[in-house]
Amino acid sequence: MDRLNWLRAQHEQGRLRDLTPVQRGADGQVRLVGGDDPLRDFSSNDYLGLSVHPQLVAGSRDFLDRSGCGAGASRLMSGDLDLHHLLEAEVAALKGQEAALLFGSGYQANCGIIPALVGRSDVIFSDRLNHASIHDGCLLSRARVVRFRHNDMEHLEELLQSRRGSGEALIIAESLYSMDGDRCPLADLVILKNRYGCLLMIDEAHATGVYGAHGGGIIEEEGLTGEVDLAMGTFGKALGSYGAYVAASREMIDFLVNRARSFIYSTALPPAVIGASLAAVRLVREQPELRSALATRVTAFRQALRRRAIEPIGVSQIMPVLVGDNARTVAVAARLRQQGVFVTAVRPPTVPEGTARLRFSVTLHLEEKDLNATAAMLASILAEKT
Ligand SMILES: *Cc1c(COP(=O)(O)O)cnc(C)c1O
Repeated sequence: MDRLNWLRAQHEQGRLRDLTPVQRGADGQVRLVGGDDPLRDFSSNDYLGLSVHPQLVAGSRDFLDRSGCGAGASRLMSGDLDLHHLLEAEVAALKGQEAALLFGSGYQANCGIIPALVGRSDVIFSDRLNHASIHDGCLLSRARVVRFRHNDMEHLEELLQSRRGSGEALIIAESLYSMDGDRCPLADLVILKNRYGCLLMIDEAHATGVYGAHGGGIIEEEGLTGEVDLAMGTFGKALGSYGAYVAASREMIDFLVNRARSFIYSTALPPAVIGASLAAVRLVREQPELRSALATRVTAFRQALRRRAIEPIGVSQIMPVLVGDNARTVAVAARLRQQGVFVTAVRPPTVPEGTARLRFSVTLHLEEKDLNATAAMLASILAEKT
């Protein structure tokens, strides 16, 4: 491949990805390198602002002081610290499941769990908008992958009827989709998985901590805890830390310990990360006011946009604004950046052709005045011709 030409072509199509280093303060404020004013950061998944919460910092420091920097080995070697089991027990309780298992990251979790569950003679039914890590896990499994139209349960049932086969079948969806900010029809997925004898795996990456009376996610909020076979999620988003988990029956977790290669062949998470995650899980269980504060900000931003005739899509803290054209989306994001607003331009292939968008995510780092000012800025930029 001619890499230089490839990069040029990506650039011309408005598809080139590049890195933008920022400096992050202990208060969570982000600044461009050498910049004075903090950016209004709408591209963070730190929804509840926990990454800088004193209790997470203290929990992290405590475990660091107690147990040092690295776990030293994988869990099945000598890296299986009591701290990991402590966190797994808390996560199992948060998710209302018998047991839980930690992974290095959500990406690793999906790449390890899916191939552990299904293989060559099996089939996976996967929502078309599922995250890249789910897609990659499906490919690694070598199972037949059948993708159903996003949230289209009639299409899924049609495919279950024609393609279910007699092997193991796994249905995978996200409870909250990161590019559209919408939910899956969880109750219907449960009906279908029971009707067709499938396993159901739900990725709660964007929902854990943010939904449910105890922050257990959308599965908890919708009262379907016992109905989902595997609930996975990350500590890297609303939980403000790093790493990931899957919660399931004891038997399922014992199976994954023996089968999930990204668990078996990777160094265990380090103590400082476990300390932060543990504090986060406890915090979200004990402080529903974090969730109501976020809901208030989300409503405020939606209203601020609507007052300016901009209708964000989605029903959550993820509020994408469709622009359409790739280059224009990038240009609008760049103009916002100049004015101190950090928002990600999401383009194909991450989203379908012609649906490039600005993905605003609202976090507790942003105050109502930031939300109003940003809505006003966006409206005036969109009103310009280009
Ligand atoms: C972010 C994300 C992941 C990956 O989690 P990391 O811990 O960041 O690796 C997996 N699934 C979904 C749906 C995500 O949004």
